[in-house]
Amino acid sequence: MGIATRAYAAMEAKGSLQPFTFNRRDLRDHDVELKITYAGICHSDIHTVAGEWGSVLTPLVPGHEIVGVVTQVGKSAKKFAVGDLIGVGVFVDSCGSCENCAQGLQNYCLEGMTGTYNGYERDGVTPAQGGYSNAFVIDENYAVKVPANLSLPGVAPLMCAGITLYSPLRHWKAGPGKKVGVIGLGGLGHMGVKFAAALGAEVTVFSHSASKKADALAMGADHFVLTSDPSVFDSLKSSFDLILNTVSADMDLHPYLRSLKLDGTLVLIGLPGKPYALEGNVLLPARRSIAGSMIGGMPELQEMLDFCGTHNITSDVEVIPASYINEAYTRTVASDVKYRFVIDASTF
Ligand code: NAP
Ligand code: ZN
Ligand code: ZN
Repeated sequence: MGIATRAYAAMEAKGSLQPFTFNRRDLRDHDVELKITYAGICHSDIHTVAGEWGSVLTPLVPGHEIVGVVTQVGKSAKKFAVGDLIGVGVFVDSCGSCENCAQGLQNYCLEGMTGTYNGYERDGVTPAQGGYSNAFVIDENYAVKVPANLSLPGVAPLMCAGITLYSPLRHWKAGPGKKVGVIGLGGLGHMGVKFAAALGAEVTVFSHSASKKADALAMGADHFVLTSDPSVFDSLKSSFDLILNTVSADMDLHPYLRSLKLDGTLVLIGLPGKPYALEGNVLLPARRSIAGSMIGGMPELQEMLDFCGTHNITSDVEVIPASYINEAYTRTVASDVKYRFVIDASTF
């Protein structure tokens, strides 16, 4: 039978998104059903639909920044009750037993996490469809509780953009006395600025958009560096402990690597879909590292939401109806969003 769902889908790779209806699976014992209230538009949705990350399983309903209200709980589900506000992020399942899953790092599951869209559920036959829709069904262990004090549209982006910046900031111990750079003030980057500031680090935003300076400072950045002038890097040599690169486009990493101090780390978070060029002699003279980081596991996802509840942190959003999705994609690619588009799910 299934649960009738209204959504927007890409019917082919590179295609525009259009209205689409399908049935979600009936609830399994540990599942909950939610009525989606808001779904964020992540640049990963755009890369995926555009085929920039490989194959596209169509029809494809993107969306992995999901917030909603529980409307039904499965027979054995205990974590949530009807009426609870919950969130769903970038994955909906994992093997649950490998050494990474065992320590709550389901995002690094050795069998591969089950993505929220553009793949199959672990049964290998049910297409996983994402959050640009009005209803969702999820194993309760892969959903998190949303603090009641937060403004709901601004919560949806926490489920990907939020955790993706929170996790490396915690892993590399951003805090008082640490100089942290965030490259790109987009959906991910602006969350990085808010978290790094809340953690007490000295925060610098690297941006190619002059118009974002005032916002960056208002979000908690101490410095704003406009990268269109390459000479700005001259005075920044060997000064950062940690730089998080959230840029969605191909770019030259070397000026940022030179800006790292001894043992500093540049973390790759943006994934343009093309290899980066790297001159090794920019790493050696200061034992610098390049690392990568991908979202976060379930315990850290809940920790991040609780941190947001305590510090009253949400994403800055532009709420749009479903009919605006295609225009929102174009504007996101042009770095023209302040700072995340979020779809009002009542418009599906
Ligand atoms: P976004 O909102 O579009 O932000 C990207 C920002 O990068 C833009 O706002 C812009 O910032 C900068 N930028 C874009 N094009 C540029 C260019 N040609 N040159 C220089 N700077 C440019 O995207 P997002 O949703 O934050 O996602 C960012 C990237 O992270 C994407 O590649 C996405 O797929 C990836 N991602 C990774 C993970 C993970 O787990 N690692 C999770 C989610 C997303 P300024 O205007 O300030 O320069
Ligand atoms: Zn995402
Ligand atoms: Zn696993």
